[in-house]
Amino acid sequence: MINSIRGFNDILPPETSIWQQVEKEARGIFAAYGFSEIRVPIVEKTGLFSRSIGETTDIVEKEMYTFADRHGESITLRPEGTAPVVRAYIEHKIYGNDPVAKFYYLGPMFRYERPQKGRFRQFHQIGAEVFGIDDPAVDAETLEMLVSLFQRLGLEGVSLQINSLGCKECRPLYKEKLLNFLQDKKSQLCQDCQRRYEINPLRTLDCKSPGCVEITSHAPSILDAVCGGCKNHFEKVKEYLALSHVNFSLNPKMVRGLDYYIRTTFEITALGLGSQNAVAAGGRYDGLVKDLGGPDVPGFGFAIGMERLAMLLQDNGQWRVDSGQSPVFIVILGDKAEASAFGLIKNLRQNGVRLERDYGNKSIKAQMKRADKLGAKFVLILGDNELASNSVAIKNMESGEQEKVSLDRVGEKLKTLIGVSL
Ligand code: ATP
Ligand code: MG
Repeated sequence: MINSIRGFNDILPPETSIWQQVEKEARGIFAAYGFSEIRVPIVEKTGLFSRSIGETTDIVEKEMYTFADRHGESITLRPEGTAPVVRAYIEHKIYGNDPVAKFYYLGPMFRYERPQKGRFRQFHQIGAEVFGIDDPAVDAETLEMLVSLFQRLGLEGVSLQINSLGCKECRPLYKEKLLNFLQDKKSQLCQDCQRRYEINPLRTLDCKSPGCVEITSHAPSILDAVCGGCKNHFEKVKEYLALSHVNFSLNPKMVRGLDYYIRTTFEITALGLGSQNAVAAGGRYDGLVKDLGGPDVPGFGFAIGMERLAMLLQDNGQWRVDSGQSPVFIVILGDKAEASAFGLIKNLRQNGVRLERDYGNKSIKAQMKRADKLGAKFVLILGDNELASNSVAIKNMESGEQEKVSLDRVGEKLKTLIGVSL
């Protein structure tokens, strides 16, 4: 047989019901905050990602699924959602009548990483982007929305860490400071960080290897180095978060793996995920719209890792996997009953009753066994006797009680029994 590709997963029921509930909750809360759904393609021109995420980032250097199409054009399976949404914002001149726009998206992303717990090659994100407002209130409000979503889902043990990465003016100065600090320690850094030292020194700050963690713990803090404008912005973000009762902590060593972030950046981490503990991340990206050929419109966004979120919810005892309303089963006895069952079944299903049946004229015993297996609490029995009196028998599987109900009252009766709205 042919198996799936390494790092590409099937998501099966009943787990899919968790995904549906997360998506439903997310759509609901995003709508309340004024976001509309945008659906962008899964494949884009490679340059879109290398230009926005950055040539020297891990994603662009080694994680992208990049192919030549049949005409030799280089295309890439999207590793993240912000760049495609920004492209769409520019391409459709959405800024034309109003630069302020709020979008959310959900769907698969692709990164060629080593598959492990919480890390896959196809994974899913729910993300949101706000264009057109550089006010720190947007940073705080968007974080408030994200944290409220997690709260509504009953997620526990999550913490929000924020940082400021400065801007195009002050970050280069901090980079110099950091390089000065690291200069005489370079040989003690891990192999990766020795390379990062040359091409992207800020990345050494969030290296997980113990040696680098120790060395960079004494590094100058970016929060002491950012310019007045960035400092002011960050102070406001913190103030507004406090006003919205969103808890956070500062992590001046948090550096995102995408070059387009400036000023506010954040991560939400959760206990119980092991070393892949980030469940959502994002930040501000003023300048990206312009860099990709649009007007100078600021932006702020985040992305949630769905697999990690689903894993947390599944591990969380409070979360019930909802396999749907327990079915009503209909036992059909004989050809005549079968013929009249079609109309009845259609009618009940169209009225929202989850109705299951068996096929092939099986014995009553076999059909009852199937009803049991499916967890039916009520079984309708339709045979010659019932047909003669234009009725069905309804059996309560828990109590064993059985009663006759006329065909035109079955819907009504089931309504009182299982509580569906007919
Ligand atoms: P990490 O540090 O875990 O590699 P990241 O910084 O690369 O994450 P982002 O690009 O910010 O992640 O993506 C946002 C979220 O998407 C992450 O917090 C995580 O929950 C999820 N995510 C990222 N990469 C993967 C992956 N390969 N498999 C599953 N989820 C992922
Ligand atoms: Mg990563």
